[in-house]
Amino acid sequence: MELSLDPKPTEYLKRVTAFLDEQILPREQEYFDALRRQGDPWAVPEFLPELRQRARSEGLWNLYLPDPGYGQDLTNVEYAPLAEAMGRSLFAPEVFNCHAPDAGNAEMLLRHGSAEQQKRWLEPLLNGEIRSAFCMSEPDAASSDATNLAATATLDGDSVILDGRKWWCTGIGHPDCRFAVVSGLTFPMADRHTRYSLVLVPLDTPGVRVERMLSVYGYRNEPSGYAEVSFTDVRLPVEAIIGRAGQGFLIAQQMLGPARIHLCMRLIGLAERAIELACTRAVQRTAFGKPLANLGGNRERIARARIAIDQARLHVRHAAWRLDTVGSLAAAAELSQIKAAVPAMACGVIDMAVHLHGAAGLSEDYPLAAAAAAARAQRLTDGPDEVHLGVVARTELAKYPTAG
Ligand SMILES: Cc1cc2nc3c(=O)[nH]c(=O)nc-3n(C[C@H](O)[C@H](O)[C@H](O)COP(=O)(O)OP(=O)(O)OC[C@H]3O[C@@H](n4cnc5c(N)ncnc54)[C@H](O)[C@@H]3O)c2cc1C
Repeated sequence: MELSLDPKPTEYLKRVTAFLDEQILPREQEYFDALRRQGDPWAVPEFLPELRQRARSEGLWNLYLPDPGYGQDLTNVEYAPLAEAMGRSLFAPEVFNCHAPDAGNAEMLLRHGSAEQQKRWLEPLLNGEIRSAFCMSEPDAASSDATNLAATATLDGDSVILDGRKWWCTGIGHPDCRFAVVSGLTFPMADRHTRYSLVLVPLDTPGVRVERMLSVYGYRNEPSGYAEVSFTDVRLPVEAIIGRAGQGFLIAQQMLGPARIHLCMRLIGLAERAIELACTRAVQRTAFGKPLANLGGNRERIARARIAIDQARLHVRHAAWRLDTVGSLAAAAELSQIKAAVPAMACGVIDMAVHLHGAAGLSEDYPLAAAAAAARAQRLTDGPDEVHLGVVARTELAKYPTAG
């Protein structure tokens, strides 16, 4: 596994880091304060579009996309340190147009979208003119099992009709969100992996209704949000299907590979930010006549956090190298390894940092409480830990012959 970076990604890393340090981190508190204080919490804070435009004009845009035409043609190994840098702030990925779920939807449309879907939806998404959502999970079905979902995408002549209810649809609250990729059951009698279709649904289609917005420990993730959405007799031309009817499970799995590794890369950055805040606090604040760092087991806790982050980083780079060399499906076990390991690591490191801050760590004065909620949620998004541990165990045990 080659870990050193070529001059091109090294240069990007310098520029992303400088942009982050000079233009994003100094305005982070202002960003979150604006969301809390402005009349409409779902409005985009005023300075964000300008910041995004600046990132775009500097070429720091769509860096995740391994496509020379639309993105910067970086491999996953090359993108990893850039995503880590962006992950240091919860709103930075959006500044660089590298946020979920738009990044995953863009990769999906690039690979599987028709020429018409690419022109009408992919191009404005990559230009940052519109936003999107991905709707798979359902309130009434255990969504850890993607072959267990009940919403339907029924073929009817030259139409496809969607019926059902989805939730945790990330991004739908954003004022610029224009379409959702929705999974639905098309062939109930087919093999589990060929039953579903993915349908591109413009949000202004009759029958689409946002029922309510959800929150993670009270954090609503404005202005993108998480929504419960109902689809009632939503009729679209069959051309709205992405790829072919019945290919939805496979296409979603391909898309979730890069999406999962990107979220792990960003979580390493968030954990780095947490340990940085923890150490700053630990050496600057005193209690019982000593800096916090020298009290109780704090030095050991900081050391263990450093070890955990560095281990996780190498683990993610290894998975990135596998993704680059063998592809999403063949690297499924490595992707599941990091998906089970990294959010848990980030939860532990961030919790250590929260605790070292005392009550302040739980408040809105530091980004730690929001980081803790975000990291905790990632133990569930794209499948809970247990599902990923199951993939790792299956791959490991398959190496051994069974009795009889
Ligand atoms: C912040 C956030 C954002 C999200 N964004 C999206 C989105 O944009 N689009 C979308 O479609 N979904 C999204 N989700 C939903 C997410 O993908 C699902 O919550 C996840 O797949 C788990 O499904 P579930 O909640 O139905 O849990 P269930 O399937 O009901 O599972 C509940 C629990 O059962 C246990 N369990 C499940 N399977 C196993 C197993 N094989 N072995 C042992 N134990 C098991 C685990 O403890 C698990 O946590 C989001 C979720 C969150 C929290």
